[in-house]
Amino acid sequence: MCKEKLLSREEFNEQVFKRDNHKCVMCGEPAVDAHHILDRKLFKDGGYYLSNGSSVCSDCHYKCEKTTISVEDVREACGITEPILPEGLQEGVVYDKWGNEVLENGFRNKGVLFNDDGVQKILKKAGLIYLFFH
Ligand SMILES: [Zn+2]
Repeated sequence: MCKEKLLSREEFNEQVFKRDNHKCVMCGEPAVDAHHILDRKLFKDGGYYLSNGSSVCSDCHYKCEKTTISVEDVREACGITEPILPEGLQEGVVYDKWGNEVLENGFRNKGVLFNDDGVQKILKKAGLIYLFFH
């Protein structure tokens, strides 16, 4: 797998918005954020790669953070066919935005960020914590 270029935060924002024509890839509203499809904390280098970014409006961004919009749906909406994965995540495995494994039955396995305060907060808000106890 060829490793793509790591961008600065500014380049990331610029290139992601440009690729997506400054529109939210999910609903077509004007984009306000360049979203990290897989969270930047999963990457040792910050994860500012074009194929890890998507342009989103604030509503859709929140849904992505709550993981009610899946990583796969965002990638598809962006036309990303070769996603970049952080170290430790495996090709062919389905993950949510926070690097938790999504199982075929819908339940999830805890990833390395599961106990992170921010992740706990957003998953609780989304009402999805129960998916991890199975
Ligand atoms: Zn949107």
